[in-house]
Amino acid sequence: MKAIVKKIGQKGVFVKDTDFIENLGVTIRTLYTGVCGTDREIANDALPFIRAENGNELIIGHEAIGIVEDPGDSDQFKKGDLVVPMVRRPGKCQLCKIGHQDYCIDGDFVEAGIRGKNGFMREKFRDDEKFLLKVKDKEIQEIGVLTEPTKNVMKIMETFKFLSSRVPWYCGDSTFSCKNLYIYGTGSEALLISFVFSTLGFNIFLVNRHPVSDKIQSIINGIGASFLDSSSEDYENKLSRNRPDVIIDAVGSSEILRKSVEKINNNGIIILFGTSGQLMEKNEDITGYIVDKNISIAGSVDGSKENYREAIEFISSNKNRFPFKDLITGIGSPENIDKIAKKDKDEIKYIIKW
Ligand SMILES: [Zn+2]
Repeated sequence: MKAIVKKIGQKGVFVKDTDFIENLGVTIRTLYTGVCGTDREIANDALPFIRAENGNELIIGHEAIGIVEDPGDSDQFKKGDLVVPMVRRPGKCQLCKIGHQDYCIDGDFVEAGIRGKNGFMREKFRDDEKFLLKVKDKEIQEIGVLTEPTKNVMKIMETFKFLSSRVPWYCGDSTFSCKNLYIYGTGSEALLISFVFSTLGFNIFLVNRHPVSDKIQSIINGIGASFLDSSSEDYENKLSRNRPDVIIDAVGSSEILRKSVEKINNNGIIILFGTSGQLMEKNEDITGYIVDKNISIAGSVDGSKENYREAIEFISSNKNRFPFKDLITGIGSPENIDKIAKKDKDEIKYIIKW
């Protein structure tokens, strides 16, 4: 069986013929796996917390959709069912025990394709039915691979709803139409955030430090959002004219975050998702702004099984409303190994067809 493997401590990733398969209930044939920033970091030896399941080799890949080949003794799944596997698997803490490994207390979880568990970039895997979600809509076989990044957005939405309940937060007419949402980043995760949050009626601005491709610009225009180039001279003016109420950071840029904290409206909400996100890079005093303005700041990582279910539901019911298909800018074979390490120009999401 073909698999994409990382040898810990050795440069790059490679295709390997392996006979590794779990000794668990449901056998799944992989259809597609997505490549994200974490896979790129693995391929470029830049992910410090990578860990093998056994020995020193890890099968990578954590965004996947597959088809049940043999349900074993599962009564939930049958042959031919479309399924999405979960990435993070519980450890032993109180929250892991109740299905909230996304809020794990002690960090004693494993993550498929990242730390301590073999991932999904292989022709076949076996899994416990507890960690599989059924995709009833057969039309989303390809875009269903976006479930994993979309479940992160569902958790961000959950976090937003919690934070916005701190004070009455709606506009005078009960809508969010007077509120400005800034999303940092213009990659697939940022665009998925814009899709989901546009359903609440925000004025949405996607921000990056460089201009975007025509394709990304047209996706942004298509949902009625705007793009702002933070390296352009009039960025600060634009920021002052449309002060943010909500900031969701999907890139981890402390510099653009700092600029916006100064401009954010009172009672603003900041949700950090970008993994290299640091609030204060050069020790600037932004705490004053945070306190004076009653700003809520929350980190958000991963998501629960319920967030996966919401993601599948969102993609399925909005497949004709949002251009999920346009996010997938490349489909390659496992042998195209260089595509994992290096992002193509104008790429949004590259996926592997198994
Ligand atoms: Zn835990």
